[in-house]
Amino acid sequence: MLPAGGYPSDMNWDWPRRKQRTGWVAEYCVICRDVHPHQVVHGRDDRGNALPPAVDCASCSLSSTTNASRYLTVLTKLPETLTELVARTFPRLPLAVGGRILWEKEAIRGALQPPERQQALQEPFLILSYLARRNYGIGAFLGFSVLFTVLSFIPMTIAAVTLFPARTQDRALGVLIWVGIAGSVALAAWIVRHNRRRSGKRVILPMLSKSLRPLRPSIDELREIAEWAKGMRQPIGMLFDPLELFEAVSRQTDRSLVHADEMDLIGQAQRMQAELNPTRDGELSSESGDDPEVL
Ligand SMILES: [Zn+2]
Repeated sequence: MLPAGGYPSDMNWDWPRRKQRTGWVAEYCVICRDVHPHQVVHGRDDRGNALPPAVDCASCSLSSTTNASRYLTVLTKLPETLTELVARTFPRLPLAVGGRILWEKEAIRGALQPPERQQALQEPFLILSYLARRNYGIGAFLGFSVLFTVLSFIPMTIAAVTLFPARTQDRALGVLIWVGIAGSVALAAWIVRHNRRRSGKRVILPMLSKSLRPLRPSIDELREIAEWAKGMRQPIGMLFDPLELFEAVSRQTDRSLVHADEMDLIGQAQRMQAELNPTRDGELSSESGDDPEVL
């Protein structure tokens, strides 16, 4: 099972009309698979209602909802080191993410067995699906359809008048208007689909391949996930073909757990655990997060 809690993993489905970035905290990013500075974001929807706070990863831009009470403070200026950022904004971070990091190490060295291995490979698809849905474009599709239909009236009317004899012009115009509507809908669908794939490649593919790189998925595993994503009707499943994703993953450099290892977060978590529960002798579990207050 994927370790629960301890890190922001809830997708930020909200698409704020207005965003206010209030400062910096340290957080664990499930896409980067490491600790990075995150910007705290407060947004408002179309009606001006406050949305739940979110944190945006400074490294990959993943946006996740969070619980603002987990941070000691939010710094308006980024300190020189990540260690200082952790100490000042989220000193309990090692305890919160220690279980997740233990699990990451198992996943990265290939020790996970099915079905946990599949869950680990599916996780970034689920986390990033909010970006694919934002990009789904139903509003753009309807807008383009109406616009192209209106624009097609003039050429269709000219065609009916110039190409057909006067007695059949009314009937010809009726048929041509339907042709114009069908053509407009088809053109709008093509534009939205094309833009979605282009945006997916530009925004989502680098994040997805960065997250999958440490797990070194085979092409067969990516084919299985693509089938699963299409079966689940996840828009993200329609953005890439497995070979394209495999090549993108192969080009990535593995930067997972670099900061976590530098800061010895596992050691810090064990020491904190030992102080909190002397009888458990600093035992950490990869089964769950150790911070019950978080998401
Ligand atoms: Zn990230």
